[in-house]
This record gives sequence, structure tokens and C-alpha cells, in this order.
Amino acid sequence: MLPPACPGVSARLTPRCFGDTMTHSMIATLSNAELLARLVSYDSTSTKSNVPIADFVCEYLDRPGIDVLRHPDADGTKVNLIARIDGRGKDTKGGGVDPDGLVLCGHLDVVPACEPEWRTDPFSLVDDATHYFGRGSCDMKGFVALAMNAMCLVCRDDLTHPLMLLLTHDEEVGLLGAKRLAAEWQQTGGSIAGLPVSFPRSVIVGEPTSLRAVRMHKGLLEMRVTVRGVPAHSGYPHLGRSAIEPAARIVAGLAALRSALEEEGGPNVALFPETPFVALNVGRITGGTAVNIVPDRCVIELSVRLLPGMEAAPFVERVRNIVADAAGSDDADFEFVHDSPPMLLAEGAPVHRTLCDLLSQSRSYGVSYATDAGALQAMGLDCVLCGPGTIEVAHKPNESLPKDEFRRAAELIETVVKRFCKE
Ligand SMILES: [Zn+2]
Repeated sequence: MLPPACPGVSARLTPRCFGDTMTHSMIATLSNAELLARLVSYDSTSTKSNVPIADFVCEYLDRPGIDVLRHPDADGTKVNLIARIDGRGKDTKGGGVDPDGLVLCGHLDVVPACEPEWRTDPFSLVDDATHYFGRGSCDMKGFVALAMNAMCLVCRDDLTHPLMLLLTHDEEVGLLGAKRLAAEWQQTGGSIAGLPVSFPRSVIVGEPTSLRAVRMHKGLLEMRVTVRGVPAHSGYPHLGRSAIEPAARIVAGLAALRSALEEEGGPNVALFPETPFVALNVGRITGGTAVNIVPDRCVIELSVRLLPGMEAAPFVERVRNIVADAAGSDDADFEFVHDSPPMLLAEGAPVHRTLCDLLSQSRSYGVSYATDAGALQAMGLDCVLCGPGTIEVAHKPNESLPKDEFRRAAELIETVVKRFCKE
């Protein structure tokens, strides 16, 4: 008999809530490479629903001792997944942060694979002597496969502390899944999809770092300026007002700010030797209708990579003031569009220390891309990035994952799980 329907839990595929007992329709455990191939075969591009791949993950994890919670968005086309194996130890009651245990975290979505340079089908994993090829092989279904198998291979009775797997949607388009999860958990005092959930404090986000422990990353702040003019025939310019001319002044103001920022430096720049500053980019400008019409509209889109330790609000104000000064009496609307916060973890945090110890890593690293960790740290979690593969091949045609790193990552995860969940 099925248990009563639980909020956020699909009765068809994961007929269990945290704590329920049920029979299981188990899929045989696949090898790490076979599981990676299955994950890559789902086209989980962020523009599409991730329900098919999430259903597969739920079915794969439907095993004794593993509780799976689905966290769907409002229209049910996107879902975060939380899988958990409880330890025998005394864990924090639902709704808090548990000092012990471990979270393995990854995203299920991938960037589009439309580039003509793909030599093989991006959604069919192929391999040669040294690498696996496919969209998401490196960013980051390789880590997700290893984390799923780590959940399956662990024996509940061996665990003294909980092991959790957190898989998010839409990381690639602004950390939407992680942000939704963090906001709901904080607003409800510790519940997800109506159920209390406690999270182990230590989190490994398996983004491709070539298996280095990374404890800092920059953020990504997006802003938009819309300049409005009055359209007119270009032969009678006095009847209109150009939107492009004030936009050009604004772009010049932003370019001056970019140069100033490169001189200024900022907090934690030592870990970003290639770009030891806040990087500003005017990424897109669209305006005008035709050469013989006075343009009535021009839109400028820009992004800023804030350094760890910086707050978004004062920086947004700084940009807003520059835009207002440059626009003068012209009509320019400034909008804050999106913020993926920077991540910053203390060097001595247990998850960083342990990974450095296991990897014989003596220094700290930072990276210039934003990740789910920026959103998750707002929940009071200690996040480190560490996963197989390099960001240099991510988001490109013929994305690949070195086989030896994949193997070493499997061993590393096994050892880290032992350290955090069995001792
Ligand atoms: Zn990623």
C-alpha cells in the first residue's frame, strides 16, 4: 500500500518521504562510467524541463536507506532533489545545520550544445583512451554520477553522520534552483517542500576544478540601462531626441569605471592572480531602428564580477550614480537584474582543511566563475568547490573529462565520505 501523498514527492517514482518505509524497484547499480553515460544521454539544457533526468535519478536512488525529496518549482517543470542517508549519530533535528556529516552537491542542467564544431553527438557519451566526451561530462555530470554511486554504495549501518546529495536545476542560468531552495529554507525556518530538512554543514560542490579544493569564487552581478528618446525622421532631427547619444556617454562612463576598478583591486585579490580586481563588462548594446530614424530606445547590458567579501548593494549604487551622471537630463532607467553572490570560506573550515589534507594541497585557490555555492553559503553552509575536469573545456564543443581524474575523484569522494560520515 502506498503511503499518503507527500508534498513535493512524486508518488510514481519516489513513493517515499523522508522517514517512510516502502518496497523498492531497484535499478542495478551501474559502473561510474555507465552512470555518467546515462546522465549525459538526458538533454538537460537549462531551457528545458529537468523532470526526465530528475525522474531517472530518483529511480536510481530508490534503495533501502536512501530518502529522496523532490522540490519542484511552481509549475512543476523544474525540480531540485535532496537525497539523504541518515547516520546512527545524534543529528540535528530537521530544519537546522548539522555540524557533522557531508553534502555532495551538483547541478543537473547543462549549457546548450548547438555548436557546429561538435565531432560527436553531444548527448551520447563517447570515449577514447584518455577522455570521455559529451555535454556535461565535465560540467558536471561526472561528479554527479560519482556522488550518486557514493550514495548507493554506502551502507547505512556504517554511517555515524548523515550523507546528503543535493542536485539543483538551472545553475547555468543564474543559480535559480539553489536560490529557490535557500530562500524557501530560510523563509520557512528550515523546511523544503513542506518538510523539515537539516543540512550537514560541510558541502562539496563538484564543479570542475581539476580536483583542487577551491574556497573562493567571484560573483556575477547583472545590470541593465534603458535609454529612451523620441523617434523622428532623420531629416527633421529637431522633432526627436536620440537615445543612442546618451547611451554612448553612459558606456564611456562605464568604461572609465572599468579602468578604475582594475587599478583599485579589492578584498581577497591574492587568490585571483590573473584578474586581481572587480571585472566589469559591457556585454551587449541594442538600439535604433534604421539609419534614417532618430533612435527612440537603446539598451545597455553589463555584468560585474564582484570579489569574495564584497556586497552587491553598495556596488550597484555606485554604478547607478555613474549612469545617472552620464545620462544628465536624458531619460535613462537603471535596473538591477540579477545577483549570483561570491563565495568565501575560511581557510580553516573542516571541509577545506580535510580536502587540502587528502589532496596534499598547501595553498588556497579562487576561481572567477559563480556557482551554487554562493547561494548555499547564505544558509550557513561551508562550501568548497572540488570536482574532476577543467573549466577550460566546459561550455565548449567537444566538452570532455579526463578518465584518470574521474577515477581519482571516485577515490577522493569515498575517502571524504569516510572522514565526514563514518568517524
Ligand atoms: Zn557547473
